[in-house]
Amino acid sequence: MTTAFYPGSFDPMTNGHLDILGQALAVAARVVVAIGVHPGKAPLFSFEERAGLIRASVAQAFPEGAARLTVTAFAGLAVDAARAEGATLLIRGLRDGTDLDYEMQMAGMNRQMAPDIQTVFLPAAPASRPITATLVRQIAAMGGDVRAFVPPPVLAALAARQRP
Ligand code: ADP
Repeated sequence: MTTAFYPGSFDPMTNGHLDILGQALAVAARVVVAIGVHPGKAPLFSFEERAGLIRASVAQAFPEGAARLTVTAFAGLAVDAARAEGATLLIRGLRDGTDLDYEMQMAGMNRQMAPDIQTVFLPAAPASRPITATLVRQIAAMGGDVRAFVPPPVLAALAARQRP
């Protein structure tokens, strides 16, 4: 049974993350979404909130994949956390050439550190290429409409944050 490890901040999950996660569910029997927790860096959504939004979004978008999804927290090296989960695939989404340059460096160094774990690059869907969680947070904070960029559960959570 192939396990894929998909690390990120997911603060919050966007349609871009969800697209990559759907592709990961198609290539692996089990997918572990790993939310990086950085002491000293305050996220918009807590770990529990981010995990709940990922589960709810997958349940809506890929109901058949929900049982094959695990959401967990990790700190430290992604390859160490992947190995601890029994994963052999490390999933990364690629939006553009900037992602590619950086991800290629990271994949190369991860491969040296952990030859047993293969990095798998998955291409962003054309519609989700411009989406970043940082811009989603900024647009939502300024009252902008982010419905084109995030799954419905995230849209509701962002709207709840905006209410006085
Ligand atoms: P962000 O870069 O938005 O802050 P993360 O750090 O949580 O998001 O990214 C986790 C993974 O998801 C990375 O592999 C990143 O390339 C990928 N990713 C993020 N946004 C998108 C998107 N819009 N389309 C495809 N992949 C994405």
